Amino acid sequence: WDKQDFVWSNNLLEKMGSVFNIQTLRPMQLQTMNVTMSSKDCMLIMPTGGGKSLCFQLPALLSKGITLVVSPLVSLMEDQIMVLEKYGIDATKLDASASKEKVKAVQEAMLDKNASLKLLYVTPEKLAKSKRFMAKLEKMYQAGRFSRLVIDEVHCCSQWGHDFRPDYKFLGIMKRQFPEVPILGLTATATTKVLEDVKKILNIPNCHLFKASFNRPNLFYEVKVKPSAFKETISEMVELIDKRFRNKSGIVYCFTQKESEEVTKELRQHGIKAGCYHANIPTKQKSQIHEMWLADKILVIVATVAFGMGIDKPNVRFVIHHSISKSMENLYQESGRAGRDDQRSDCIVYYRFADVFKQSTMVFTEQTGLDNVYGVMSYCLDISKCRRASIARHFGELWDKSQCNKMCDHCNKDTEGEKRDVTKLGKNVLTIIDQASATDQRITALKLLDAWEGKGAGSLKVRGLDPPKVSRDKLERIIGHMLLQGFIREDFHFTPYNTISYLVAGAKANFLKSESAKLAVEFLNKRRSL
Ligand code: ADP
Repeated sequence: WDKQDFVWSNNLLEKMGSVFNIQTLRPMQLQTMNVTMSSKDCMLIMPTGGGKSLCFQLPALLSKGITLVVSPLVSLMEDQIMVLEKYGIDATKLDASASKEKVKAVQEAMLDKNASLKLLYVTPEKLAKSKRFMAKLEKMYQAGRFSRLVIDEVHCCSQWGHDFRPDYKFLGIMKRQFPEVPILGLTATATTKVLEDVKKILNIPNCHLFKASFNRPNLFYEVKVKPSAFKETISEMVELIDKRFRNKSGIVYCFTQKESEEVTKELRQHGIKAGCYHANIPTKQKSQIHEMWLADKILVIVATVAFGMGIDKPNVRFVIHHSISKSMENLYQESGRAGRDDQRSDCIVYYRFADVFKQSTMVFTEQTGLDNVYGVMSYCLDISKCRRASIARHFGELWDKSQCNKMCDHCNKDTEGEKRDVTKLGKNVLTIIDQASATDQRITALKLLDAWEGKGAGSLKVRGLDPPKVSRDKLERIIGHMLLQGFIREDFHFTPYNTISYLVAGAKANFLKSESAKLAVEFLNKRRSL
């Protein structure tokens, strides 16, 4: 973008104060709005809650004609329209529920230069599936009333992202069909691979990218070792919620619906006001739970990822992951629902080695599924020695550790970890794996741990090898590092009932065997924390 683009600033700022009652803009908002006002394509990458919506709502008021907003969820549209109406802005949506009269009125407004309608929300399905609607858009375009195309959650176009939706792919034709209409894409996903893919799919190779920082200074990041017994994890969580977050509002994320139901039940039995939320809970009950939580009548929502987009509660003091997320994007976004009011809030992950394999067997068919899960494992093992640094690195931001301000469990510790050369232990791990492969056995991570301890199938006991006694925690950590570094890798075996993840020697294994590799793993001194 050039300086000339900034000619819109005064108009934007004036409208901002008079209509939206907002005093100052946040980083990247003014740039984005100026560029889209100059009819250039751009994408804004900003964490959830950062203020992306204003970047098209305000320009919509200053533009002739209608801004078309593609949004993945009807509930998200409803929330936004409600707010816009409060500010006296004419906005509406077209979805399956629209009456004939409504459709007709909208279609008229699309062509009528005196109409007050400024923003029209639709789902990508509507564009992909309704030829008639596309024809109306063509007319609106010819009439010079198609002022801008906004694509919310634009990462949904890409299969590399964590939220791919086939109908978003269809949006690729928009630039061809309406070449003069500037596109503004919005997302909180920032990996280069996804962004490049999105540009390609939408046919906007030269679009401007604006990226706001992903650092949320008021969030304290922490990872805890998850006990192997469910009940033990529950009692730790109960103590945490009772002590650190007494009478505070929070979210507990779970891996499956069943897990979320079980956790809810347990928390309630321990006297914590908790509600359960997942895709199979009836719609009415879901909104009831959501509303009670918003009103602080329920303090803790125990949920699957279904509890996600559009949550805008300011005083969420904690987000606990009872199980790890399937990607750093998910983890970041879910954790990011805490502390929207800029007050200190905690994001805690219960990490257990076995959960990595639970996730990996679920996602290994997705193109980048395994990489995504290992990204979370790497965060939990704290490879970057600061949780914030891990997040920054993931989102491609430069990072100086001092910027964490002791706001993660690692930086908050006085003791430095102690580094150990664990090459020998690593070689033992490989020997056990090799032995399993030689005898045609599929060795899962848990079987490997058993074999190390001399338990389990006799055939896995390695002759001539007397693996040194190390704690299970440490061994798990070593295997985790070996996976991340490619010394071993996961393979998958299908049965009619389930999928088994088992370990095989990775491409780098020979290197390790040749004695020249050093696998140094840092152990933190404090127990119960990774
Ligand atoms: P996102 O879409 O990025 O998740 P939203 O657009 O929903 O975030 O904005 C989150 C909240 O921040 C909204 O309540 C919005 O009114 C508010 N907001 C946006 N920009 C500003 C600003 N410059 N100053 C103060 N509040 C803002």
